[in-house]
Amino acid sequence: MTITPSDNIKKEINENISDELISDVIRNRIKLQKKRFHANDNISDFINPGELEQLQKEVASKVKDLLKSLVIDIDNDHNSQETAERVAKMYLREVFKGRYHKRPTVTDFPNAKNLDEIYTLGPISVRSACSHHMVPIIGDCWIGIKPGDKVIGISKFARVADWVFSRPHIQEEAVMILADEIERLCEPKGLAILVKAKHYCMCWRGVKEPNTSMINSIVRGDFRHDPSLKQEFFELVKNQPNGLSCY
Ligand SMILES: [Zn+2]
Repeated sequence: MTITPSDNIKKEINENISDELISDVIRNRIKLQKKRFHANDNISDFINPGELEQLQKEVASKVKDLLKSLVIDIDNDHNSQETAERVAKMYLREVFKGRYHKRPTVTDFPNAKNLDEIYTLGPISVRSACSHHMVPIIGDCWIGIKPGDKVIGISKFARVADWVFSRPHIQEEAVMILADEIERLCEPKGLAILVKAKHYCMCWRGVKEPNTSMINSIVRGDFRHDPSLKQEFFELVKNQPNGLSCY
């Protein structure tokens, strides 16, 4: 078969593509759309079917390099032989799944009975990692809702919170992102979120304070405009069996 110049060029292009790291392919797609890809952004819209497997392989090979740079004998240390693969799987499929996987499906229903009272959910356990050190942030989340025209099943709040927190974060931004998602899903008249979490970058390293937790909250809509409603939410949280008073 005669190879024409255009075939040669095509071959070269294909070879270049296959040499390219899948993370570069995904990153370029995001840049082309002028979107952000910070640690706490979800980038699942830019990952095509089958590419997450390729990304997992790439991450494993980079973790292998990291272990080598830490002068760990990954060839002979039986405890470290599969560590790179385990860490890559853990990052992409478990602890940071909220970056690489789409939001769980949430169906909304009309607020048929025009429920107008606030309700509070919690504690919902949340797990994340700090963007600064990539070590765990583990805590509890309480959500207060004053419904609007739409409602969603209560278990969905836990699923969405898990999805949002399963990314590298700083706590203040995690709470804001969760609030944005809940507002998008059920457009409540009021929304309050409180998170109390332990940061392992404070208790495992650095100042090594094992008992310090960080609490932050966000109030929107009626919870923001009506101080008595805000007060009611914090009282409800405080009075729950696993409320803040137990810490
Ligand atoms: Zn940290």
